[in-house]
Amino acid sequence: MNRRTESSNKIEASEATTAGRHALVLGGSLAGLLAARVLCDHFDRVTVVERDPFPATASPRRGVPQANHVHALMPRGRLILEQLFPGLQKEMMAAGAPLVGMGKDVAWLTPQGWGVRFRSNLEVLSFTRPLLDLHVRRRLITDCRVHVMENTEIIRLLPGRQNGKVAGAVVRTGGENSDRVVEMQLRADLVVDATGRASRAPRWLEELGYPAPEETIINAHLGYASRLYRIPEGFSADWKCIFVQAAPPERKRGAILFTVEGDRWLVTMIGGGRDYPPTDNDAFLEFARSLPSPIIYDAIRQAEPLSPIKGHRGTENRLRHFERAGRQPENFIAIGDSVCAFNPVYGQGMTIAAMGANALHECLCEEKGVLENFARRFQKRLTKVTAAPWMLATSEDYRYRETEGGSASVATRIMHHYMDHVVKLSTFDASVRQVLLEVFGMLVQPSALFRPNIVLRVLGHTLGFVRPPKSVAKKTSSGMLVYHSAAND
Ligand SMILES: Cc1cc2nc3c(=O)[nH]c(=O)nc-3n(C[C@H](O)[C@H](O)[C@H](O)COP(=O)(O)OP(=O)(O)OC[C@H]3O[C@@H](n4cnc5c(N)ncnc54)[C@H](O)[C@@H]3O)c2cc1C
Repeated sequence: MNRRTESSNKIEASEATTAGRHALVLGGSLAGLLAARVLCDHFDRVTVVERDPFPATASPRRGVPQANHVHALMPRGRLILEQLFPGLQKEMMAAGAPLVGMGKDVAWLTPQGWGVRFRSNLEVLSFTRPLLDLHVRRRLITDCRVHVMENTEIIRLLPGRQNGKVAGAVVRTGGENSDRVVEMQLRADLVVDATGRASRAPRWLEELGYPAPEETIINAHLGYASRLYRIPEGFSADWKCIFVQAAPPERKRGAILFTVEGDRWLVTMIGGGRDYPPTDNDAFLEFARSLPSPIIYDAIRQAEPLSPIKGHRGTENRLRHFERAGRQPENFIAIGDSVCAFNPVYGQGMTIAAMGANALHECLCEEKGVLENFARRFQKRLTKVTAAPWMLATSEDYRYRETEGGSASVATRIMHHYMDHVVKLSTFDASVRQVLLEVFGMLVQPSALFRPNIVLRVLGHTLGFVRPPKSVAKKTSSGMLVYHSAAND
C-alpha cells in the first residue's frame, strides 16, 4: 500500500476560503448526524467527518461495533427524531420495522416477576441499529448545506489565531485501503466532537494546551453477545419483544429479543459482573437456557441463525466532565457518547444523543452569532440532560458486587429498596407500570416515581395492604403467568 506518512504529507486544501458560517462535526454516527441536522438551522454549511465508509445498505460498520446488538430507541428519542426528520418513523415501518406497544407487546420479566401486560399509549419501533442509521443518513444528506466526508479520520484540532478558540480540525482523507492519503485542514466556526466513548478529544485539547476534562468511570463489567435469527414460519406468540432482566447481585444474566425488519429476531444475551455471554453456538444456547425463564431459549432453539454471534464488552458508564473544565476553547463542544456513555442495558444512549441535539439547538437559538463562552454554556446544559439517566444507570449498576468506580451510598440502598417495591407493583398494577415505562422511556423525570399515588401504593405494599389481584392473572400462550390489567385489557 502506497501510503504517504503524516510528516511527508502536504497539508492540502482548506475550507477557509468558502464563505458563510461553517460547523464541523467529528464522527458520523447517531450523535454526529443529529447534531448536524440541528446545525443546518444555524450555519450556512455543515461538514460531517467520518473515518468509515458509509454502507449503502443497513449493515454494521467498524466504527459502530455496538450496532450488532439490540438497540432500543426510547419513546422520547423517537419523538425527537420524528421532529428532526418528519416521516422517519413511517419510512422505517415501510422498511419492515414493527411498532411495538411497550405495555402490551413486550414480555418483560422484571427482577420481581413479569410486568403487567396492558394497552398503553407508549410505543417504540423495533429495528436493527444499522437500519436507523441508514435512514437518518439518507434524510440528512438531502439537505444541500450538509457535506459528508467518509473515509476521513480526524487527526487533531487546529489552533485558532484568536486565543480561546479552535480554528477547525486536521483530517486525513483516503481511508485505510486508499493509496492516496492526504491531510487537510478543515476550518470551521464551531467544532462538535461526536466520536463516541473512545473519543480522543481529551488528548486533542491537551495538545493545544487546554486541560483534559476529568472522567468518571463506573463499570459493572457487562458483556453482550448477539445473533440474528429467521422467525420460523407460522410462529405466533403474544409478544413482539422479550426482555428478561438481570437481578443483581444474584442473577447476573439477562437477555433481549427484538422482532426486527426482515422478519427476523435480533437476540442479545447479557451478562453483568464479568459473567460474559459466550459467542459460540452451543454455549450461546446454553446461556439462553440458563436464564430465569426459558421463553427466549424456546423461541430460538429451533430457529435458523442468520448471522455469526458477535460479542461486545465496552459497556462502562463513562462521564467526561467538559462542563467543569477550567479553560476550554469557546467554539469546541462534545456531544453524545463522547461526553456521557452509559451501560447500554438501560437503552439511553441514542435518546440522549437526540436530547443533546435539542439542547444544542436551544443554545444556538440563544447565542448572537459570536459563540462567546458557547462551550461552557452548552456543556452545562448537556449536564442537565445527562444527570438523571446517569444517576439511574450508575445506581442500578451498584447492585453488582463486581462494579468498579464507586459503590452504593445509604441513600442509593434506600432507593434500591423503594424501587424493588415499585417494580413489584408494576407486575400487577398497570398505573404503576405506565409511570415506570414513562420514566424508562425518558418522557418524564424519575421524580415521577415519587408522586403521592405511587408513594402511597409502595407504602401499602410494604405494609402488606396492597397485594396482586389474583383474579386477573392469566397464563399466556408461551406458558408464563402474567397479570393483565382488567381496565386496559
Ligand atoms: C453494546 C451496546 C448496546 C447499546 N444499546 C443501546 C440501546 O439499546 N439503546 C440506546 O439508545 N443506545 C444504546 N447504545 C448506545 C448507542 O450505541 C450510542 O449512544 C449511540 O451510538 C450514539 O453514540 P455516538 O454517536 O455518540 O458515538 P458512536 O456511535 O460510538 O459513534 C462514533 C463515531 O465516530 C467515528 N469516529 C471515531 N473516531 C474517529 C476519528 N478519529 N475520525 C473520524 N471518525 C471517528 C466512529 O467511526 C463512529 O462512527 C448501546 C451501546 C452499546 C455499546
